[in-house]
This record gives sequence, structure tokens and C-alpha cells, in this order.
Amino acid sequence: MNFSDPEHVGTLIVGASQAGLQLATSLRELGSADPITLLGDEARLPYQRPPLSKAFLHGDLAEDGLALRDEGFYASNAIDLIRGEWVEAVRLTDPVTGAGEAYTSGGRRFAFTKLALTVGGSPRRMRVPGGNLAGIHYVRDVDDAIGLRRELAAAERVVVVGGGFVGLEAAAAARAAGKDVTVVEAGDRLMARAVAPAVSDFCAEAHRRRGTTVRLDAVVTAFTGAERVQAVELGDGVSLPADLVVVGIGLEPRTELAEQLGLRVDRGIVVDAHARTSNPAVVAAGDCTVRPHPLTGHGQVRIESVQNAVSQAQLAAASLLGLSSKTRSVPWFWSDQADLKLQIAGLSASYDDYVVRGDPATERFSVLYYKAGRLIASDSVNAPRDYVVVRKVLGDEGTLPPHLVGDVSVSLKDLMRSVSASAAIA
Ligand SMILES: Cc1cc2nc3c(=O)[nH]c(=O)nc-3n(C[C@H](O)[C@H](O)[C@H](O)COP(=O)(O)OP(=O)(O)OC[C@H]3O[C@@H](n4cnc5c(N)ncnc54)[C@H](O)[C@@H]3O)c2cc1C
Repeated sequence: MNFSDPEHVGTLIVGASQAGLQLATSLRELGSADPITLLGDEARLPYQRPPLSKAFLHGDLAEDGLALRDEGFYASNAIDLIRGEWVEAVRLTDPVTGAGEAYTSGGRRFAFTKLALTVGGSPRRMRVPGGNLAGIHYVRDVDDAIGLRRELAAAERVVVVGGGFVGLEAAAAARAAGKDVTVVEAGDRLMARAVAPAVSDFCAEAHRRRGTTVRLDAVVTAFTGAERVQAVELGDGVSLPADLVVVGIGLEPRTELAEQLGLRVDRGIVVDAHARTSNPAVVAAGDCTVRPHPLTGHGQVRIESVQNAVSQAQLAAASLLGLSSKTRSVPWFWSDQADLKLQIAGLSASYDDYVVRGDPATERFSVLYYKAGRLIASDSVNAPRDYVVVRKVLGDEGTLPPHLVGDVSVSLKDLMRSVSASAAIA
């Protein structure tokens, strides 16, 4: 392909979504006056994805309510937003400063002085026979959600493949619309990567109570149908009739550009606590990265959340400007499934103990996770006050005594205060 003469763009941010927009915004907030170009392949103004499987799918939120910022924001902050361009190649002309060139599939060439990768990921595909039949949907962008919403209106039998957050939210939306819904999960419990068995079990029962069939240990082997999906075949020989399928089986981070640059990649673009890649002149943020644990600074975790995209983008902006910044942040996440509001603070993966606070039968409770006696995370179902307190405690590097948090007659807020008061006296 012949490329255009280079367009000189200053800092180039590839990927115009949650992380990319935050990075551009933070550069301005931190005082950068250099040119900033925020480039993405989507045609729309950068928008929020969480409502795509929640309010937008339910029809409670219109498309124009999704935009993260209105058009005027970009002009008033001198952020050059380029939409509808896909960067297919990138190279550094000066690996020390991070200057280089990017080439788009539309034939444009951009000469940049600094580079940030905020390229997110794409939904993991079902690679089984029939995987390309019509009626099988993934939910990553607005067009996916519009297509799903349209077909959902006419569907009767919906099968959701994947019992993670996106799948369960889509299942709740389909069930609320009166559809016959089955969730098929290959593992032995729902949301297994993110929550404890107590919360998985509760959610399975809560969805069942609302009329959804939940099948665990159920492996999809094929989709069948003529042109359109008609059934989902399972490994145990069961065939589930379906006229609509939603697949939510995870995300594959986009690493191609990082690989072209020779950056370290390991199930995501590897970054340090300051969002710097293995070439410290190049930064990356959001769903495309793996990073040290945001509370402990150890290990490598990939966090797919708005909070992570935003906080990492803030760190990346500081790094590009050579500024130091506080790297510790409390991860948080939410998921709305029917009338169940699940709120998560911290990362529970390494817990060795947990305490259930409240009675799951009331659909209002929290699970607090501990490691070596210290609080590391919580999942709250319809218990926002617990969630807020745990977020604050983790932010303050504090803890709550495990033998006391199960007592619902004492609010966590009061418990937090009494713990701090005793610490102050000691
Ligand atoms: C349906 C759904 C529900 C969710 N619900 C929640 C929730 O309840 N709470 C929560 O915290 N998080 C939720 N998330 C996750 C959250 O939306 C993501 O963590 C967040 O969007 C990550 O932002 P990002 O900028 O890193 O990546 P993305 O949002 O994936 O953006 C990357 C952008 O880069 C573009 N791009 C990639 N490569 C190129 C290239 N080579 N050239 C040009 N453009 C490129 C992509 O098209 C995309 O627009 C949800 C996500 C989905 C899909």
C-alpha cells in the first residue's frame, strides 16, 4: 500500500475508548501543551461499554447517552480525535524517546513523538462447528448491542454461553424481556474467576428463582441450524433449542502492535506499576495490559474494568510526562443482573479465608475475603454500604477483624471507626 506523507501528531494514543480518552484528558490535566491525537477505528465518539449489557440492552438508555464526552470536549481540550482509522502497523524511529510512525489500513501515516497503546481486546470466539451461524452474538461494541437488542425482541429461546458478568447481565436482560433463557457454563460455578463459591452459588440460585435455567459443567460442542442457529449442542449429548445465542466467554487482549514493537507480551501487554511497557518510553493502559497487582505491587494481573482503565491511563499520562505518581489503587467493579447489584472491592483471587456477612437468602449480603488475617476484598450483593466501607478500608491500607464482620447488628462503618480509634490509642 502507498501511504500518505506523514502527518505530525505529537503524542499518538491508539485506541479511543475508556483508557485512551482518560489518557488524553490526564495529559491535559497534568499541564501538557503538546499536540495529542486520540485515534480509534470506531466511528462513534468514545463511549461507555458497561451499559451495553445492562441499561442499553434493556432499552432503558438511548445511544446518545453512551458517549463519555460530547464533541465539544475534544475541541476545547485540543485533543485531535481521529475516528474510523485502524492502525495496522507501527514502528519506533527512536526507541529511546519513543518517537515513530504508525500506518493505518486507510493509507494514512502518522509521525508521533510519543506512543500510548490503549487498544483493549476483542471477545473470545467460540471455535466449534456452527460458530458462524446467524443469531450468535457477542457483546463488545455498540453495533453488537444494537444487533442483539433487535434480535432479542423477536427471539423466544435464548441460550447464553458463559456464566461470567457479561453473560449473566445479558441473561438477566433477556429474562426481563420475558424470554426462555438458559445459561450454559463450562465450569462448575458462575463467575469463578472473580468471586467466591458462596457468591457463585447464590447467583446461580438467584437467576434460577427468576426463571433462568442455569447449567453448570456444560461444554458447548457445536451450534446447529441451516443458516441461523437452531440449537446448542452440549458435550453430554443434550441439545438446547435456541433462536438466539449470546456468547460471553472472555476477552482476548490485542497485542499485535506491541509485538511489532518487540515489547514484552504475556497474555496482554506487560506493563509496570507506572503503565510503562518493556520499553519505558512507550506506555499502555486498560484491558490490553497485564500489570502488577494494584494493591500489593506483586505478580501480574489482567483487570478488565472501567476503574482499571481510568487509573492506569492516569499513571500512563504521568509517565509520558516524566512525572511520578501514586501507583496504589483499590480495584472496584460492579455488575447489574436483574435487580441484583453486585459490587466488588479489591481482588479476591488469593484469599485463604472468607466471612459471609448477612443472609444470602435475603438477597442482601456481603462476602469479605481475607489473606493471612487481613482484609483483601469484598463482594456485596445489594449491600452498597458494606462495599463503600471496604473500599475505604482497603484504600487506607487498613483491615477489619474477621471475627467481627459477620455481626450485622454492627455496621461496617462503625466497626471501621472503632478499629481506627483503637489503632490511634495503641
Ligand atoms: C458488555 C460489557 C459490559 C461491561 N461491564 C462492565 C462493568 O459493569 N463494570 C466495569 O468496570 N467494566 C465493565 N466492562 C469492561 C470495561 O468496559 C472495559 O474494561 C473498558 O472498556 C476497557 O477500556 P479500554 O479503553 O482499555 O479498552 P476498549 O474499551 O476495548 O477500547 C479499545 C479501543 O481501541 C480500538 N482499537 C483497538 N486496536 C486498534 C487499532 N489497531 N487501531 C485503531 N483502534 C484500535 C478498539 O476498537 C476500541 O475502540 C464491560 C465491558 C463490556 C464489553
